[in-house]
This record gives sequence, structure tokens and C-alpha cells, in this order.
Amino acid sequence: MRKKIVAGNWKMNVDLNESTDLIKSIKKIYDHNIDVEVCIAPSFPFLKESTELCQGEKIKVLAQNVNDNLKGAFTGEVSIHMLKSINVDGVILGHSERREYYNEDDDLLLRKLKVSLKNNFKVYFCIGESLEDREKNNHFEKVKNQLDKTVFKIDNIDPENLVIAYEPIWAIGTGLTASPEQAQEIHKYIRNLLSERYGKKISDNTSIIYGGSVKPNSARDIFEKQDVDGGLIGGASLSPQDFIDIVRSI
Ligand code: PEP
Repeated sequence: MRKKIVAGNWKMNVDLNESTDLIKSIKKIYDHNIDVEVCIAPSFPFLKESTELCQGEKIKVLAQNVNDNLKGAFTGEVSIHMLKSINVDGVILGHSERREYYNEDDDLLLRKLKVSLKNNFKVYFCIGESLEDREKNNHFEKVKNQLDKTVFKIDNIDPENLVIAYEPIWAIGTGLTASPEQAQEIHKYIRNLLSERYGKKISDNTSIIYGGSVKPNSARDIFEKQDVDGGLIGGASLSPQDFIDIVRSI
């Protein structure tokens, strides 16, 4: 059975006090009995405090990036071992903002993916098309191409350690959301691709989450779709109430 997941990506939006307050507020209203993997992704400087605050809480703490090397002369970079040493549970890779603003191409993402999985570090891997791709009806080809050049280069995947996040770039931070039908259509397509590459069992057990302007009032209809296993939430994850309402929508 694949997991239901809701992950909040805080991006570069909160300082230490705000990050602490967010976690404390989420903890206050979070119902531990809900069968959802709840994740938050604070910025690097606050990860240690975040994992300490989330200890025993069933809230996973993710990094927003990681280097593709394990150690060495890479000024300003952060390794998997560093993150694991402060109990970080995994990492978001392939986010369109990293692809676009920091030139993270498929080759680099494949290296990051490989080193993460090899070191048993869970990856939430983002793919998704631009508005131009969508308007030209190229979105299926685009996500297939992204997967072919990254995830599908890996021979064995473990659904416990890899989540796919479908995030149409035109819906990120724009207030535009894919309709539930659009989300289902492409999630199903991605699941079929996973099945062709790794077999039905792996495909059925891999969580595919949706990201792109999900809000409390749109979450339920999207999450209801058969192949949508939750969400990657940007803006709305900065409000504890909105975030938990989205978690409850599953
Ligand atoms: C994201 O950046 O992953 C995201 C989904 O952002 P938003 O919810 O703000 O569109």
C-alpha cells in the first residue's frame, strides 16, 4: 500500500523564530491519528532545531537541497551525512526553482538522486512541465523525458525511499491549480511509466504527490483522485491552520 503524504516546502521564507513558531503551531493542531506522512522542509540553518522539535511527533523533516558529493572541498554546500547527523529524514530534489534559478539539470539531479538513494536518504523528486509545454500539449512527453533522464536511469527503486512529486511549473506560486482531472490524468500516466519500467508492484506502491497552489479549498478534490497520493505544498504550508486543513483533506 502506498503512503499518503503531505509535505510543506517553506522555501526561503521564514527565519528561526518564525520556523519555530510554525512547528509549534502545527504540533498543537496536528492529529497524530491521521494516516498521512506529514513532512516539513525548513531552511538549512533551522533543520537541527526542527528535528529536535519534531522528535516523537510523526512529522518528518526534509531538506530543500543536498550536494551530490558526500564530503570534501565544496564550499557552501551541505552533504547527506551532515543532514543525517541531525536526523533529517530526506530531501526535496528537482524542484523547478532549483532547476530554473540554479541550473540544476537532469545530469546533476541524477547524481544527487543516486547518492541519496545509495545512502538510504529518502527523496521527494519533482517533475513537471512549463506553461508552454502544457499549451503545446507536450506535458506527457516532458515528464517522461525528465523521468527517463533521472529516476529511470536507476535500475531498482524502493517506494519507501522515493516519492514522485508532479508539479506543473505554471501552477507553482501562481494561484493556478491543475484541475483534479488534469492531475489524475498525468499521475496515472506517471504510474503507468513506473509500471513499464519497474513492474506493477513497485508502481502501485510508489506515492505520487501533486504540487501547485494547493489550498485548503482545493485539496480535497485533488486528493480524492485515485492516483494522487497527497501534495507538496508551498505557500499554504506557511499557515499552520491551512497546512493542517490540507493534511485533513486526505
Ligand atoms: C512548491 O513550490 O512546491 C509549491 C507547490 O508551491 P505553491 O504551493 O506555493 O504553488
